Amino acid sequence: MHEYSLVQDLIAQVTGLARARGASRVVRITVGVGELAGVDPDLFATAFDTFRSAGHLGEAELALRRIPASWVCSRCRRTLERGAVLRCPECAEPGRLAAGDELLLERIELEVSEPQALRGAGTPPALDAESGRRRPG
Ligand SMILES: [Zn+2]
Repeated sequence: MHEYSLVQDLIAQVTGLARARGASRVVRITVGVGELAGVDPDLFATAFDTFRSAGHLGEAELALRRIPASWVCSRCRRTLERGAVLRCPECAEPGRLAAGDELLLERIELEVSEPQALRGAGTPPALDAESGRRRPG
């Protein structure tokens, strides 16, 4: 199924990013699904449930954000009203799809077990007595 291969690609991408950042866990993934992307969000979510046990994604939450389709004039770029004739009232140019056919990995929330890994290279490591102590909360 189409959604299944898309989800497998997504999981491979997220797993790679999580590894690259030294994440211990992926908390949440936000994916933008265009209205005209040809992706069924329900099927996509079902496929995610099926495949997420791979990699770091056992407990990850999937959030799907639907992106409505929108059109702009191909000449003056003004946004055209949807539902009406997709032609610019100013230039009479046909509309061009500006959004709604995309499938985007928008955001990944990671849990990193070693916060030091996120520090910039310029930050010296903490070597004092407090370094081993856990922060409250
Ligand atoms: Zn125009």
